[in-house]
Amino acid sequence: MAQFRLDPNTLTYIRDLLQGAAIDENWKVALDKLLRATREEFVFDNVAIYLIDQISNTLEITYARAIGREKTAEADATWGEIFANQVLEKKGVLIQEPVKGDDNRLLQAYLLGLPLYGREKIIGVMVLIRFGGPEYKDAQITLATIIGSWVSVLLNRKVHIETDQILSTLQQKVQLQDDFVATISHELRTPLGFIKGYTTTLLRKDTTWDDETKIEFLTIIDEETDRLTQLIDNILESAKLQSSTIELNLLPLRLDSLIRDVVVRVQARNKDLRIEVDLDKVPPIQGDNIRLTQVLDNLFSNSTKYAPGSNVLVRIKKEKKYLLITFSDEGPGIPNAYLPYIFERFYRVPGENNRFGSGLGLYICNQIILAHHGKIWVESEIDRGTTFFIQLPIENTA
Ligand code: ADP
Repeated sequence: MAQFRLDPNTLTYIRDLLQGAAIDENWKVALDKLLRATREEFVFDNVAIYLIDQISNTLEITYARAIGREKTAEADATWGEIFANQVLEKKGVLIQEPVKGDDNRLLQAYLLGLPLYGREKIIGVMVLIRFGGPEYKDAQITLATIIGSWVSVLLNRKVHIETDQILSTLQQKVQLQDDFVATISHELRTPLGFIKGYTTTLLRKDTTWDDETKIEFLTIIDEETDRLTQLIDNILESAKLQSSTIELNLLPLRLDSLIRDVVVRVQARNKDLRIEVDLDKVPPIQGDNIRLTQVLDNLFSNSTKYAPGSNVLVRIKKEKKYLLITFSDEGPGIPNAYLPYIFERFYRVPGENNRFGSGLGLYICNQIILAHHGKIWVESEIDRGTTFFIQLPIENTA
């Protein structure tokens, strides 16, 4: 092996190496490159990196590569663990050389262990292994220490990225819950305000109301009570769904006739809504009548809320082993950026036109369809409209 010296060329080489590693997005790719390139200057066979697990406070293998001759990375990773713990205990560079006289070269392991640092404390250990020597020279230990610091930088970046992701998910959840409390209070107050207002008006002793007005007021009270009941049901249901899955009452059912029944009912309530249907006669499936009706009711309720005045087209057809329901409106659509989230609990598309709702409807729809081993998804185009797709297996083993 060439004599190792920290000459200017080597230093330039290390700088290039580190700069190359720094621009890689993925820490594993950066580490791979760094360690492979290191080997051009400094021979080692295997490398294992252990990080201290924040919860158990023990070293966990994070990265292992068999770069050199023979042996598997995994075997050395477990082998290096005892040694890595010794490095951790020593809090410094540690070398372990084999007991002389063992003939099997592969058992002649020369171990070099280096602590890896976070900002203030040790975050892990890197272990390099050479089989059959030679011994580590001082200059090589210096180089390994430099590489070790860079590995620390990469791993800190990994930890940083992971923490950042956890925080951002958490932040999104907290935000959703904050928004939820705000919208729910609003959603509860609005119908209550109507109910209270019209009841008080009807009870006034100083005025009498003709029958037509009384019926008009009572209809409003009736509708607002329904809205309140539905909202409370949704809140309770979604809370329940957090801890358990939906229980289905599966019976053979004809989806085309179920859709027809829902359409007749919805049409009777919303005389102005133009609903077009295109229903193939499809084979029966095992489904929960009440739950699937709930899904369709929700989609209709959304289309009247978010695509007022638009036509609605409901289709069903058979596709191989599935039935596919498409539910389209010609409303304002949903911006692409929000589409991935609309089935999430509490999620509501931000915007002025979207002031009522709880963000629970589509979450519950999704859970119901999943419980049927099906799939629900959405496509939308701004100013063109929104289409929900529901795929349900014909042979449902739920
Ligand atoms: P909610 O209607 O109570 O807000 P949902 O879970 O039913 O909750 O819907 C989530 C969001 O998806 C709604 O806030 C709305 O912004 C958007 N959305 C749902 N259906 C449509 C639709 N047909 N057109 C446009 N936006 C829709």
